[in-house]
Amino acid sequence: RDTINVLDVPVDRITMEEATRRISEFVNSTTYHTVITPNPEIVMLAKDNPEFKAVMKRADLIVPDGIGVVLASKILKNSLPERVAGFDLVQNTMKQAVDKGYRYYFFGSKPGVADLAAEKMRSTYPGIQIVGTHDGYFTEEDIPAIIEEINNSNANILLVALGAPKQELWMDKYKDQLPHIRVAIGVGGSLDGMAG
Ligand code: UDP
Repeated sequence: RDTINVLDVPVDRITMEEATRRISEFVNSTTYHTVITPNPEIVMLAKDNPEFKAVMKRADLIVPDGIGVVLASKILKNSLPERVAGFDLVQNTMKQAVDKGYRYYFFGSKPGVADLAAEKMRSTYPGIQIVGTHDGYFTEEDIPAIIEEINNSNANILLVALGAPKQELWMDKYKDQLPHIRVAIGVGGSLDGMAG
């Protein structure tokens, strides 16, 4: 990996096209991977939250969602090639989803939003497999049932929209309980965007 430290967060020096290809490699692998898409506020959050920072450092791919992260990198010697917004990255994977056998599970956002996002994406990308959804307002006791549902859906891509740092911590904490997921992506407000 070729990364650059932005406030001690290792951001990948990667274009949108390369990031899309990396996700395809993750799906074709035999293990779980995490992708995070920090904007500057999230990078700042990691500064004062050691647990979050440790989780970010363990991520398999970190793309600069905000232009601010790219600009911050320009002050440093090896700058980042371009902004790779989480929303656009997910849309790029969806263009290839039918060909590549991607099966998505949408997890997060307010009740009804993930379902509406799934409906919209099925009409934008005919044939796409969105194999399950769950909203992001749950209690600790609900988690085993949510995990069982994700596993029964046989999804290989999990979009987690719980806001930062909750989504990144969740993706990291439950990695060993999600045997079919090959890539979990922290997508922030992207399900709202897809539904809107
Ligand atoms: N959200 C959620 N559960 C929570 C808190 C937030 O599902 O307990 C959802 C919220 O409805 C929204 C998304 O997480 O869809 C957060 O979006 P935001 O743009 O704030 O993401 P961030 O910039 O924090 O990554």
